[in-house]
Amino acid sequence: MGGTSLPTVARLLLIEDDLTIRTPLLRALRERGHAVAAASTALDGLRDALDDRPDLVVLDLGLPDLDGGELLRMLRAVSTVPVIVATARDDEGEIVRMLDAGADDYLVKPFTAAQLDARARAVLRRSAADPATDPVLVVGGLRIDPRSRQVTLDGAPVELTPREFDLLHHLAGRPGQVVTKRELLTEVWRIPYGGADKTVDVHLSWLRRKLGESAQEPRYLHTVRGVGVRLDVPGSNP
Ligand code: CA
Repeated sequence: MGGTSLPTVARLLLIEDDLTIRTPLLRALRERGHAVAAASTALDGLRDALDDRPDLVVLDLGLPDLDGGELLRMLRAVSTVPVIVATARDDEGEIVRMLDAGADDYLVKPFTAAQLDARARAVLRRSAADPATDPVLVVGGLRIDPRSRQVTLDGAPVELTPREFDLLHHLAGRPGQVVTKRELLTEVWRIPYGGADKTVDVHLSWLRRKLGESAQEPRYLHTVRGVGVRLDVPGSNP
C-alpha cells in the first residue's frame, strides 16, 4: 500500500435518479466500506455536495430537473470536489465536454460497482497526492495543518469544528489582508449567492473564543467594520 495513509474508503455522493441503478450501486459501494449518500435530482445533489462536503461525487447526466452537465458547471463554480460522470451517452464529444467542464473521470453505463470503486480510488489518490497544494500554515503562534486538520496555538492544540477550521485556514492563508464576509460565504461556506453575514459573525465569535480572544480585545482576528475581517500576527498591526 506504500508509505502514505491514502484513504481506502471515502464519503461518496451518488447523484442518480434511476433506482434500478442507484439501489444496487449504493449497496455494493457500502459493502466495500464507503459511506455513500444519494440524491435523485440535480438540485438536491448540488445542495448535498455543498452541505455535506463528500470526498467524491458520482454524477449521472440524465437527471429530471437539470442536465448533469449543467450541475457540473454550477458545482465547479464553487467547489473543487472530485467528480466522476456516469453517463449512458458514450459519444466522444459529450465525454470531452464533461472533462473540459471539470469532471475528473467518467464511466459509461452500464458499469459495475467494482469499476466505479476502482475509478473512485484512482481519482481520490490523484486529488490527495499533491501535498504541495496544502502546506502547513504558520502565522505567529498559530500552526494550521490542512492535511491532519489540526491547529495549535503557542504549541497547545485547539479543537475546532470543520467549519471553524476552514474559516481559520482561509484567513490564515491571507495574513494582513481584509477578507470580506461575501468572500468567506463563497469560499468557506460554498454559498455562491445570498447567504447571511450573520452566519459568518457567529462562527467568527466561536473561533475567537477558542483562540482565547474577543472582538473587543483581538489578537489574531480583527474586525474591519462594514468590510470583513483580517488575520494578523499579534503586535504586527497596532
Ligand atoms: Ca438518469
